[in-house]
Amino acid sequence: MVKPSPDYKRIATEEAFAPKEMFDIYRKILAGPDPDPGFVSLLGFYMTSQSDRAKHIIRCLADLDQIRLQHMDETGIDRQVIALTSPGVQIMDTETAVSFAKVANDELSAAVRRHPTRFSGMIAVAPQNPKEAAKEIERGIHKLGLTGVIINSHTHGEYLSDPKFWEIFEAAEANDTPIYLHPNTPPRNMIQPFVECGLDGAIYGFGVETGLHALRIITAGVFDRFPKLQMIIGHMGEALPFWSYRLDYMHQATVKSDRYKTVRALKKKPSDYLRENFYITNSGMAWEPAIKFTQETLSVDRVLYAMDYPYQFSADEVVSLDGMKMSLENKKLFFQSNAEKIFKLK
Ligand code: MN
Repeated sequence: MVKPSPDYKRIATEEAFAPKEMFDIYRKILAGPDPDPGFVSLLGFYMTSQSDRAKHIIRCLADLDQIRLQHMDETGIDRQVIALTSPGVQIMDTETAVSFAKVANDELSAAVRRHPTRFSGMIAVAPQNPKEAAKEIERGIHKLGLTGVIINSHTHGEYLSDPKFWEIFEAAEANDTPIYLHPNTPPRNMIQPFVECGLDGAIYGFGVETGLHALRIITAGVFDRFPKLQMIIGHMGEALPFWSYRLDYMHQATVKSDRYKTVRALKKKPSDYLRENFYITNSGMAWEPAIKFTQETLSVDRVLYAMDYPYQFSADEVVSLDGMKMSLENKKLFFQSNAEKIFKLK
């Protein structure tokens, strides 16, 4: 049992849920013709495996009441910011995705209303229909009391760097709410070298795919077009902070050489967008050196705590993060204040 901290609230910001009905839709997709190989690898496993880990995850994902609250109490988590688990509605056909995003958001909103001091929730959207996604962002903020938008990386192999999706960015910026770009398994045309050696999941494939997605958004000029847009990426920024120097050097070199039509001059360096348009959580990475490096590279105002419940559920990690050699002021930013600010928590 981890006691509450006297100095700060612990707000976990990348915590997953899944309505039971979503698994019914997933079963149909898995049984259908030629299902996505990454989806088969991930959900095909969790939904059928009898391992303790798989059973724990499916049971916890579906709960928005006692099990979750008990686990939060056991690990000293004051509040969860909850989002529809990967790949959410993005694996569905367009019509199902648009309608089920609303079902999932209604369910999450009801849970937030039942437990207003313990839960906050992000808005799931279907990038398959950007206009409907933009409308759902409006509804989520103004009618459902949700905050932030969850996008589980690629949608059927397509990336938000494509301007056809930019209505979603426009709506997020206009509503002053962040987009959390959460991992998905690599798409069909990327997964083979990962899945053949079992590295397609959270161990590595997730990070590579999501880091690529965030970088594509940067190099496509999204933040020149939407300068106030804020995005959140987990897992210590999917390694992008560590790449900053090379990204800056090689982006400039590539622009100058005129090698690709798709790599054009931006108003700022890639690392400037990381510092000005991204927040980074430590989901899945309870590791002091990486947290401090990211605080130094971005700023202490842009690095937040996340547990990644129920995929990663560990009281020891909370205790070790409490014990980081860091000023109390910065620890409070990490665990509490940065989350309150970006998600507008009250
Ligand atoms: Mn996660």
